[in-house]
Amino acid sequence: MRRAAILEELAGAAKAGGRSPADVTLVAVSKMQSEARIEEALASGQRVFGENRVQEAMTRWSARRAAYPDLELRLVGPLQTNKADEAVALFDVIETLDREKLARAILKAMEKTGRAPRLYVQVNTGEEPQKAGIAPKDVPAFVAQMRALMPQGIEGLMCIPPVEEPASLHFALLAKLARAAGVEKLSMGMSADYALAARLGATSVRVGSALFGEREG
Ligand SMILES: *Cc1c(COP(=O)(O)O)cnc(C)c1O
Repeated sequence: MRRAAILEELAGAAKAGGRSPADVTLVAVSKMQSEARIEEALASGQRVFGENRVQEAMTRWSARRAAYPDLELRLVGPLQTNKADEAVALFDVIETLDREKLARAILKAMEKTGRAPRLYVQVNTGEEPQKAGIAPKDVPAFVAQMRALMPQGIEGLMCIPPVEEPASLHFALLAKLARAAGVEKLSMGMSADYALAARLGATSVRVGSALFGEREG
């Protein structure tokens, strides 16, 4: 568990970028990690966790909700419309909004459950055909459409840069798109580049293996 060291690095990087350490949230991506490691993270004070599958997240977190009322769960993986009810019931934040059909399914689930998860729009900054997310040029119109549709509005933008390109270009692009759209938060940076992301304006970084160790299975 490298939590203390990562928090220290994030604080240094935020300051180097002219920001406050309090402006960067460490999201512990707990997918495919052992129960022992998750318990260790909770014991060390970690409360914000990211998952990329609804079913796996329900198994891991539903019962823990009662024990940790200050838990914050974020969905960082793709969401299918037929899982929207379960996702809205479990997650506090959905970071992968990328199409109108999904927004409408989330809206319906909100009416059923009385919950309103905070929302991030996923941006495909590298315009990779196999990757989810809105193309950069479509971000302003999509954010405007989502603001009109979703009562909670759009809290932030999220990206997963192409592995073979310098992440800094993609972090800078996401920050620029957010500024232009008047969106406040930036979810960017993973194990390989969380410090860089924090320096370039990330308000949350999604860290899995660098925090917990390699994933199982
Ligand atoms: C798995 C995952 C992460 C964490 O990846 P690491 O490289 O282990 O830090 C971050 N973001 C998303 C969307 C993921 O699916």
